[in-house]
Amino acid sequence: MEADPADVTRLVQVLAEVKDKIRFCRVCGNVAEAELCRICGDERRDRTAICVVEEPKDVAAIERTREFRGVYHVLGGAISPMDGVGPGDLRVRELLTRLADGTVTEVILATDPNIAGEATATYLTRTLAPLELRVTRLASGLPVGGDLEYADEVTLGRAFEGRRTVHA
Ligand SMILES: [Zn+2]
Repeated sequence: MEADPADVTRLVQVLAEVKDKIRFCRVCGNVAEAELCRICGDERRDRTAICVVEEPKDVAAIERTREFRGVYHVLGGAISPMDGVGPGDLRVRELLTRLADGTVTEVILATDPNIAGEATATYLTRTLAPLELRVTRLASGLPVGGDLEYADEVTLGRAFEGRRTVHA
C-alpha cells in the first residue's frame, strides 16, 4: 500500500511485456520466444526420443540434469477427474500426430510422481500401446506425491537413467 504508484504502473507494464513475449512452441508446447522453443529449434537434439512432461517447468528441470538429448512434449497438465481434467484437455492428440511418421522410437513418460501423474502415464501407456515404439517411465526413487520440478538434479538424473520399459 506504500508503494509509489509510478512503481506499480511500471511493474504492471513489465508483466504485460513478459506476457506478450511468452509464447508456446508450435511443436512441443514448451514456452518459447519464437515459433519454436529453444530445444525444438536445436538441430543437434535427438528426434527419435520424446520425453512427455506435464508443464514447461518440468522441461527446465530435466534440462538441468543434462541426462536427455531428445525433444519434449508438454501435455499442459495431468489427468485429474476431481479437477475436471480429462485426456481431452491435454495435448495428447498433438503427441499422437508427432508420432505418426515413425521417426520417434522411444517415448519417455516423465509425468509427476503423484496420483494425477501416474493416471496420466497409465493412460498414455495404453494409448501408445498399438504403436511400434518403446514406452518408458522414469524410475522410482523420485519423492512420491511430489512434483518433478522439485526433485534435485541427481535424483532426477538417476530416475532418467534407470527408466523402465512399460511397453516395448
Ligand atoms: Zn518445442
